[in-house]
Amino acid sequence: MPPVENAGGKSELKSRIQGLIDSNQVMVFSKSYCPFCIKVKDLFRELKVDCNVVELDLIDDGTNYQEMLLEMTGQKTVPSVFINKTHLGGCDKTLQAHKDGSLQQLLSGESEKYDYDLIVIGGGSGGLACSKEAAKLGKKVMVVDYVVPTPKGTTWGLGGTCVNVGCIPKKLMHQTALLSTAMQDARKFGWEFDEAVKHNWDTMRSAINNYIGSLNWGYRVALRDKDVNYVNAYAEFVEPHKIKATNKKGKETFYTAAKFVLATGERPRYLGVPGDKEYCITSDDLFYLPHCPGKTLVIGASYVALECGGFLAGLGIDVTVMVRSILLRGFDQDMANRAGEHMEEHGVKFLRKYIPVKIEELEAGRLKVTGKSTDTGEIFEGEFNTVLIAVGRDACTDKLGLDKAEVKVNPKNGKIPVSDEEQTNVPHIYAIGDILEGKWELTPVAIQAGKLLARRLYGGATLKCDYVNVPTTVFTPLEYGCCGLSEERALELYGQENVEIYHSLFWPLEFTVPGRDNNKCYAKILCNKLDNDRVIGFHYLGPNAGEVTQGFGIAMKCGVTKDQLDVTIGIHPTCAEIFTTMEVTKKSGGSLAMSGC
Ligand code: FAD
Ligand code: NAP
Repeated sequence: MPPVENAGGKSELKSRIQGLIDSNQVMVFSKSYCPFCIKVKDLFRELKVDCNVVELDLIDDGTNYQEMLLEMTGQKTVPSVFINKTHLGGCDKTLQAHKDGSLQQLLSGESEKYDYDLIVIGGGSGGLACSKEAAKLGKKVMVVDYVVPTPKGTTWGLGGTCVNVGCIPKKLMHQTALLSTAMQDARKFGWEFDEAVKHNWDTMRSAINNYIGSLNWGYRVALRDKDVNYVNAYAEFVEPHKIKATNKKGKETFYTAAKFVLATGERPRYLGVPGDKEYCITSDDLFYLPHCPGKTLVIGASYVALECGGFLAGLGIDVTVMVRSILLRGFDQDMANRAGEHMEEHGVKFLRKYIPVKIEELEAGRLKVTGKSTDTGEIFEGEFNTVLIAVGRDACTDKLGLDKAEVKVNPKNGKIPVSDEEQTNVPHIYAIGDILEGKWELTPVAIQAGKLLARRLYGGATLKCDYVNVPTTVFTPLEYGCCGLSEERALELYGQENVEIYHSLFWPLEFTVPGRDNNKCYAKILCNKLDNDRVIGFHYLGPNAGEVTQGFGIAMKCGVTKDQLDVTIGIHPTCAEIFTTMEVTKKSGGSLAMSGC
């Protein structure tokens, strides 16, 4: 066969390769000397399955074949195995498929008897990423997504939690609150404007809701462009390879697929006390609330509670946060408390060690809350216009018919345990995102897991989602970004004597002229003395924490050490430069305050 160089030749080569794939039940692109290729060919011999082999090292334009295969499948290496026109992958994938039974399924041509190669249940961060990637790799894909309205009747469009009731409206409302502080600072920098500055909830809400609407539309178009069939219906398994999809009008349609990805996310948990569903709202309602919430009680003390309580207070609303135990469970408690102190100094009230007992309506827009101290049993009674419940989120797995598909779920929390390849106990069913047991509940994690899963399933790739050292930011009024271990966890894992903690307070230059929050921002790194002072925990409390933490997250992926931070030249004047000049260790008890510039 002549070598192929030009564009015409390229397309001719592509159709030649496609012809080989289409006309052979098993097609293996191999190299005669490669031990992995030999393993795969031996396997098919053992299985007594005829396989057509092209040895790329023995033909003239083997290199061109390999490049074209890379373009067609995303896989660079050999063997590159195709079964019944489906790209299976390399040696590991073939052996794994043999182990889990999916090879036999592919050989029997079973996948052809299904409506779809892949059905993704849930059109949120993870589901959309996975379905688009699978379609890009040539698969026939359907996404089924449905939003069950909240008890208050709030509902929204395609895109899942992040876009509609999570990251996006949250960050935009946080930004609205930051603008208020910026306006107060502006006067100190010489800006003159009328004293009376008001915030209009309705203007903010409609602007944010409109933006979300444009994103919903964008997602629909993107699915159409990528040939992913979007079905707006509630899905549940009726058989291991079959789902029932019920649309808004109650119409039921059945679909089958060779493989499934579960990406159904979570919904806010209620308290189970009288009046919770009748009178309270959750974050799912807050972002669509038609009126300003007024005096608000936030119940809960994690991400959602502190972020929502924080931005509401920033809009000038009277906010109380009812805390059952500690702030931001699971996070570095030193940092969590500093973020909380800042909120308290800026007007947020904390009702600590209290749990709600009942919520009653006195009249429309006036709620009476009764709480009880977990310490003394003392009763609290208070009146609020709005009660926002933010006490965690439940995985949407209970009404998915998972028993019909025999998928194992942790009965305690409804979460789905998966292998490090996001495979459930049922080989053809995978799960990603917030419903996973023991994994991060964050948008970029769901997206990464979904995309890499599709590439492994259909593109011959082997890269797995890395759930370690995931950077994250809590958008409290003073933002908290972190990556790696909390101080508590680092000391537990490595021992006090083996962890060196460097820390410093700092005063962002932007805060100096307005004269606010002097030495309230705080930076801390934890270093493992047993491993070259490698940074195992990064913590930052200050402005633009997400922007700062992202870069240090990359550094931590690369294994950054304290020495490397020390030889890095800072960017002046910034907040992030503090990490290049940290000298005071926590053990030394030295002064934390930043002096000079
Ligand atoms: P989701 O995005 O929740 O999507 C699941 C979809 O499946 C939903 O549309 C759901 O309605 C649908 N569905 C459920 N069951 C079915 C069914 N049976 N049939 C059909 N469809 C179904 N993460 C960050 O990274 N940064 C942040 O700043 C951030 N802020 C947040 C703020 C709030 C208030 C909240 C609540 C979350 C926040 N998160 C944030 C978390 C982030 O939103 C989630 O981690 C992410 O959306 C999870 O994606 P997912 O694909 O697992 O599920
Ligand atoms: P969460 O992390 O599960 O925290 C639940 C909070 O509610 C805790 O403070 C808990 O207190 C409290 N609580 C639970 N039951 C209670 C009860 N009966 N009465 C009073 N308080 C109660 O939940 P979340 O804040 O909803 O966050 C869910 C997930 O969304 C997070 O894990 C996160 O990954 C994701 N998220 C991410 C971001 C971001 O990236 N910025 C923002 C928001 C959400 P105890 O400590 O006493 O148990």
